[in-house]
Amino acid sequence: MSNVEKIFGSLVFNDAVMQQKLPKDTYKTLKKCIADGTALPAPTADIIAGAMKEWAVEHGATHFTHWFQPMTGITAEKHDSFINPQSDGTVILEFSGKELIKGEPDASSFPSGGLRATFEARGYTAWDPTSYAFIKDGTLCIPTAFCSYSGEALDKKTPLLRSTEALNKSAVRLLSLIPGNTAKRVQVTVGAEQEYFLIDRSVYYKRKDLLYAGRTLFGAMPPKGQELEDHYFGIIKPRVSAFMKELDEELWKLGIPAKTKHNEVAPAQHELAPVFGPINMATDHNQLTMEKMKTIAQKHDMACLLHEKPFEGINGSGKHNNWSLCTDEGDNLLKPGKKPAENIRFLLFLAAVIEAVDDYQDLLRISVASAGNDHRLGANEAPPAIVSMYLGDELTEVLEGIEKGTPCAEHATQAIETGVQVLPTFKKDTTDRNRTSPFAFTGNKFEFRMLGSAQSISGPNVVLNTIVAESLDRFADALEGAEDFNKAAYALVAQVMRDHKRIIFNGNNYSDEWVEEAERRGLLNLKTSADALPRFKDRKNIDLFVRHGVFSETEVVSRTDIMLEEYAKILHIEALCMERMVQQDILPAGMKFTNMVLDSLQKKAAVGLDTGMEQDIAQKATELCRCIAQKNTALSQAVDGADMQDAEALAVYYKDNVLPAMAQLRECVDALELICDKQMWPYPSTGKLIFSVK
Ligand code: ADP
Ligand code: MG
Repeated sequence: MSNVEKIFGSLVFNDAVMQQKLPKDTYKTLKKCIADGTALPAPTADIIAGAMKEWAVEHGATHFTHWFQPMTGITAEKHDSFINPQSDGTVILEFSGKELIKGEPDASSFPSGGLRATFEARGYTAWDPTSYAFIKDGTLCIPTAFCSYSGEALDKKTPLLRSTEALNKSAVRLLSLIPGNTAKRVQVTVGAEQEYFLIDRSVYYKRKDLLYAGRTLFGAMPPKGQELEDHYFGIIKPRVSAFMKELDEELWKLGIPAKTKHNEVAPAQHELAPVFGPINMATDHNQLTMEKMKTIAQKHDMACLLHEKPFEGINGSGKHNNWSLCTDEGDNLLKPGKKPAENIRFLLFLAAVIEAVDDYQDLLRISVASAGNDHRLGANEAPPAIVSMYLGDELTEVLEGIEKGTPCAEHATQAIETGVQVLPTFKKDTTDRNRTSPFAFTGNKFEFRMLGSAQSISGPNVVLNTIVAESLDRFADALEGAEDFNKAAYALVAQVMRDHKRIIFNGNNYSDEWVEEAERRGLLNLKTSADALPRFKDRKNIDLFVRHGVFSETEVVSRTDIMLEEYAKILHIEALCMERMVQQDILPAGMKFTNMVLDSLQKKAAVGLDTGMEQDIAQKATELCRCIAQKNTALSQAVDGADMQDAEALAVYYKDNVLPAMAQLRECVDALELICDKQMWPYPSTGKLIFSVK
């Protein structure tokens, strides 16, 4: 066995381990509970807990934790040791079924959007047996859902599980109408590609903005950024390569199928993609991947930046959420097959996604809204804030043919001619890729590309699952009792095309023409998070989530507040950070520099030399410092004005008043940086940061 095969999953209480460690009937009961979605009987839980503990202790664990995903977007853990002191002064190691199934962390300090008053602060964590337990840093981690005393979700896992179940139900309902169907369950599969930056740790710690805000709030562009496109897929530097190797190994131990790694477009930017898997595990895995990236980077004397826009002027980082549906018989429902026009099952599921994306553009946009991601969407490096779909010419023609009742002629696959005899000829990929589309069909899955690099993939998938469940239900309603299923199904697909084809756009999403064209088509363009987030609680959205049992009305309202408050808090922190940097470091540096110039001026003047240059520089520095001081006061005043109670009003205020004040301040500071003595500038420059890893 190779080392990779040996270490893969070695820290996971996975199916193979369970089969080995659990009595046969216990294993069977567990599998049945997972398949049927029912709760585990207490005695079975005790046996599983015992086996888990034994296995964990064998692997060096001393503690256990319920590992959960509160609304902060990162994971949370509170460790308990296995020890149980005995009267004779010794200890035994114990872990009961009760401890496995349920935890009661004091949860008063997690965001709840008013769902939980402090006097009933207790939150509950409940074991999610559909995601494997694993060992991290000597602690047995049990993936759990997190909810309030009254059962409201306080986390990102509960709604994901609910939405996956909703989608399964609706998909199976539609499938059961298709003649010849034998599938009984539908699983959502997800593969999340993760972008990130690596910079040297020594420069990282010199930047207050990176420490407090995760991104640089100041910094003039270096002479060279990504213009030459020489970083993309370039040779991986030895230090980065060593990091990636360790990262792969640590992820493999956790059963995370890390597959692809490469340099991305911006200097210091990289990407990792796993092999796709069941949605729930893929989500847990992405959270763990981000965590491991951070800790392993530290070990290699680097800092991993997961922020969506660490540096102005070069690309930021995103996440591609590859999403598809797979039956319990292993069929990918989004696989077109050789003759898509005749594959009615595929066409129905495709049409369901088209309808869902058009009907709920707002929810998809909201699901990727954050203060960080606002710097990317629509900034010519990432898809715009306008949601549209790419299907490729061939599929679009197939659908248009169905719409018009004139089946399109089949495409003969074309060969790619390289003009070199010795090279093999390739067939052209008919689902050719459009990299600018926010929501692209890529062969046998959809790739949602608007996600920010730092965010949990849970939110976007909750939306995707729920909106597609809604369309599938509508389709099932329409097709139930149809005399001729095929005829009715094609008519339905044709109708979906007539009603929703405005959402299909195969052209360049980065162009200005598209913004105008999208407006003509009546598509939404919710430019910022402050514009988008309040719509989460629009009546139609609340009704949708309630109908599918994904969120209650209270949960939707509280989540809207949490997201809006987070947006305002982030801008608040960034503004305060800028003020301090200016006051404590940047203005003093500017004055020191001016002084130096004036010193020279005086000395030259004393011996009668020309002081024109000093005059010019001192003048420029004085003007810029003055501008900085004024803009800093203006920013401070803008922040002081943020005193509204309503979360939406506050978010809109920060967007309209604080954000522009920050941008104006930055402009003056970056101009000063460019004329100031490098030795006197208090922070490593952007160039130094992005080219810091040799
Ligand atoms: P890109 O060209 O965008 O870099 P890749 O082909 O490298 O895309 O990555 C595609 C991602 O999609 C991988 O993580 C892969 O595992 C995932 N993927 C492939 N098939 C499916 C599927 N059926 N469901 C979900 N994800 C999938
Ligand atoms: Mg991709």
